[in-house]
Amino acid sequence: MTDSTKPVQDVVVVGAGFAGMYMLYRLRSAGFSTIVFEAGSGVGGTWYWNRYPGARCDVESLEYSYSFSEELQQEWEWTERYPAQPEILRYANHVADRFELRKDIHFETRVVAASFDERSSRWLVRTEPGGELWARFLVMATGCLSSANTPTIDGMDGFVGEIAHTGRWPRDGIDFCGKRVGVVGTGSSGVQAIPVIAEQAAELVVFQRTPNYSIPAQNGPLDLELEREVKAHYPEFRAANRRMHGALGSRFRYGQTSALAASDEEVQRDLDERWQIGGFAFIAGYNDFLRSREANAKAAEFVRRRIREIVRDPAVAELLCPKQVIGCKRLCLDTHYFETFNRPNVRLVDVSEHPIERLTSRGLVTGGREYELDVIVFATGFDAMTGSLTRIDIRGRGGIRLRDEWSGGPRTYLGLGVVGFPNLFTITGPGSPSVLANMIVAIEQHVDWITDCLVYLRRGGYASIEATVEAQDAWVEHVNAIADTTLYPTCNSWYLGANVPGKPRVFMPLIGFPPYVEKCN
Ligand code: FAD
Ligand code: NAP
Repeated sequence: MTDSTKPVQDVVVVGAGFAGMYMLYRLRSAGFSTIVFEAGSGVGGTWYWNRYPGARCDVESLEYSYSFSEELQQEWEWTERYPAQPEILRYANHVADRFELRKDIHFETRVVAASFDERSSRWLVRTEPGGELWARFLVMATGCLSSANTPTIDGMDGFVGEIAHTGRWPRDGIDFCGKRVGVVGTGSSGVQAIPVIAEQAAELVVFQRTPNYSIPAQNGPLDLELEREVKAHYPEFRAANRRMHGALGSRFRYGQTSALAASDEEVQRDLDERWQIGGFAFIAGYNDFLRSREANAKAAEFVRRRIREIVRDPAVAELLCPKQVIGCKRLCLDTHYFETFNRPNVRLVDVSEHPIERLTSRGLVTGGREYELDVIVFATGFDAMTGSLTRIDIRGRGGIRLRDEWSGGPRTYLGLGVVGFPNLFTITGPGSPSVLANMIVAIEQHVDWITDCLVYLRRGGYASIEATVEAQDAWVEHVNAIADTTLYPTCNSWYLGANVPGKPRVFMPLIGFPPYVEKCN
């Protein structure tokens, strides 16, 4: 039975990134008593934690922003085509202030457990530092990329220099001047950080396990004419983006024909133009780059040729050339990434054959050789999509644990609910477009859906809601079936959980935003 000495909220929201902030705004407007718990000391989530040099969004600023308030989208002024982390964090803080969100957010408070009481249909939520309260509904806004994945390497405690993970960057930053720096990892975070660190450090050693495809972002000051044009028709612009496959990029042409039906010259010309424009639209000129290996090879070879043109040392260029399908690991956008390997203070070390063996007090050992370093940066990514959920002891009906239910991979209905866990919602959960979409758009769609659902339950006097086994099974099958029509499952990506030792290999996000929205309506 519910303990009457503990406070009861209509809703507890976990996390105060863009998802938790908007969830709070909507719930409060709809008249639900709501508390948000946030482990960090400020709002912004991703943009609060990832303060590494070079951290930047790779969705354009006019698109990577909330659409729910016309006043907000008119008044905020972005300065660059792709906003940098400090600017996005300022934006998140502006939103928190403008809508007076902070008064219902408990910072530096981590939710460590939540259990569902079947008799009262309520969740008992436990936080650290110690506290417990009841909630009728529990909304997990814990983020898809919020549990840092730092490899376990012998000798880490004995290293006398500084160690940092890009996703848990120290608030005061790191001074690289005059230092010998090692960066482990060449995904999006590494690709962004490496050029900036190289400009500051005395020496930079990049430890690469898998080379990645990266396209120039072609970042620059925001085109004021474009901004005026977009702001004059913002609702239409947002609507056009929501109709796009990844909920972004409506300004660019997305080809509807096969790259195999075009001549090699046509494909090269198209890729060349898109390389100059910059951004994800690079791979959108034809409709089968992520469906046909033969088509994909054309885009992959184009990028390899560019790498060989940019990087002067042919051996280094070859090491930087990815061999996997382009796009099956998330495409990176960069500013002078490949050029950085022409600098005399930068060297590339291949750890694909000889993994990192250990850290010593002075540095890092691989291939039987010790590299002496003052700072080691782990740009090694995240326990994506499930990590922040399974780290919490979440117990549903009959005490079943979410982490046990998902031991073979996450299972959800629509990425929003889980059988056995009534009244629990996951914003951008596995099985939804989430990380394969402009995430702010995906967040707004989920938050709106959850708010509508709670209003419906209140109106109908329903105490609880839960997915059925049949609906969940069919949904999981659907998500897998869609993935299997593409080349996404062909390489070891975090979309598949392949970056975390022991994590089951299951494709977690749903491909395609518009049909998903249709299904949710
Ligand atoms: P988050 O921003 O991750 O916020 C989750 C919050 O929950 C965090 O503050 C965390 O501290 C808190 N939390 C988690 N567990 C607990 C707990 N148990 N108790 C209390 N609090 C908890 N997406 C794009 O669409 N475009 C981009 O270009 C892009 N760039 C990115 C760049 C980086 C470096 C990273 C890491 C991600 C990027 N993403 C991008 C994805 C990004 O995560 C989303 O766009 C968006 O910021 C997610 O918001 P969120 O609120 O869902 O999650
Ligand atoms: P990531 O894509 O998972 O990349 C991690 C890198 O670390 C990979 O190169 C990986 O190699 C390497 N690595 C992991 N463990 C290693 C080990 N033990 N030894 C050697 N190398 C190791 O992580 P991320 O770069 O942080 O990006 C994660 C996601 O966050 C992105 O895909 C994107 O969605 C988002 N993000 C976006 C931006 C942006 O541009 N806006 C920036 C940063 C992050 P393998 O490939 O061999 O596993």
